[in-house]
Amino acid sequence: MGDMTATSARRVLLAAPRGYCAGVDRAVIAVEKALEQYGAPIYVRKEIVHNKYVVQTLEKKGAIFVDETEEVPEGSIVIFSAHGVAPVVHEEAAQRQLATIDATCPLVTKVHKEAVRFAKEDYDILLIGHEGHEEVIGTSGEAPDHVTLVDGPGDVKNVEVRDESKVVWLSQTTLSVDETMETVDALQDRFPQLISPPSDDICYATQNRQIAIKQVAAESDLVIVVGSKNSSNSVRLVEVAIGAGAKDGHLVDYASEIDEAWLEGVTTVGVTSGASVPDVLVEGVLEWLAERGYGDVEVVQPMQETMTFSLPKELRRDLRAEAAAAAGTAATGTDGAER
Ligand code: SF4
Repeated sequence: MGDMTATSARRVLLAAPRGYCAGVDRAVIAVEKALEQYGAPIYVRKEIVHNKYVVQTLEKKGAIFVDETEEVPEGSIVIFSAHGVAPVVHEEAAQRQLATIDATCPLVTKVHKEAVRFAKEDYDILLIGHEGHEEVIGTSGEAPDHVTLVDGPGDVKNVEVRDESKVVWLSQTTLSVDETMETVDALQDRFPQLISPPSDDICYATQNRQIAIKQVAAESDLVIVVGSKNSSNSVRLVEVAIGAGAKDGHLVDYASEIDEAWLEGVTTVGVTSGASVPDVLVEGVLEWLAERGYGDVEVVQPMQETMTFSLPKELRRDLRAEAAAAAGTAATGTDGAER
């Protein structure tokens, strides 16, 4: 009897918004459209987005992922990933006569522009982010002589600046909002004249997913975040969930990675996914949970998302040209039929 009560109380709280953000959606569609438009192979520098499943699916369709531009045969087409690239990468691509499609998320480009502007005004730029992350490498590359990386609150004591009256902080787009504010507070203590970026660098998608999982986590015994280990925003979601009261939290790429032992004594399971994760992977996790008695799913949605971005301009230009040519052919065809 006790068991039956426990079973009937089992439930899943599903966070929304979760999964694909506008920047990831755009980058993945850019690779798919490029494959349709120009044919395989299409080269992609770095993982287009940090998700195993997405990368493997695009590989099957003819995309070839490389780490560096020099691995791309001269004259081929290369797509730059959503995380952005340093200007030197554009130069390397031009030298190898590569046709480039830049799928950098517009919200990353915004941070690049801020870096360029503050560097021009000769500010020291304190870039809060994770050492070695592709986005941070790209943003730093816009102004290498002006940017110092600050990797979390513990790193603040190591920061040196040239002029304390000309210091600004910027950040990676996919950080934990709360931890970043801790870092900013510590920086402000050291540099009282520190100025803030003109608008949020942590993007809307990262912020919304964190707000939603906090609400879910407060009521969850276990939180499962679907996402890859190299996905910054996905890793942050596990940390945020634990910080917000979830008793346990794990990151998995697929349902098959869930360990049955995690469910011991668990009544409520919170589920969400990172910004680079297609919902089919979440559906797999929900099915896996349903098979184990967690079939009752309640959506927790603190806000709606409506953001969309248009495709990279190089691709839009070629798709337009093709549409115009097709319209021309169709018109000629009709003419021919009438004669
Ligand atoms: S997580 Fe944010 S910055 Fe990154 S691609 Fe998505 S919208 Fe752009």
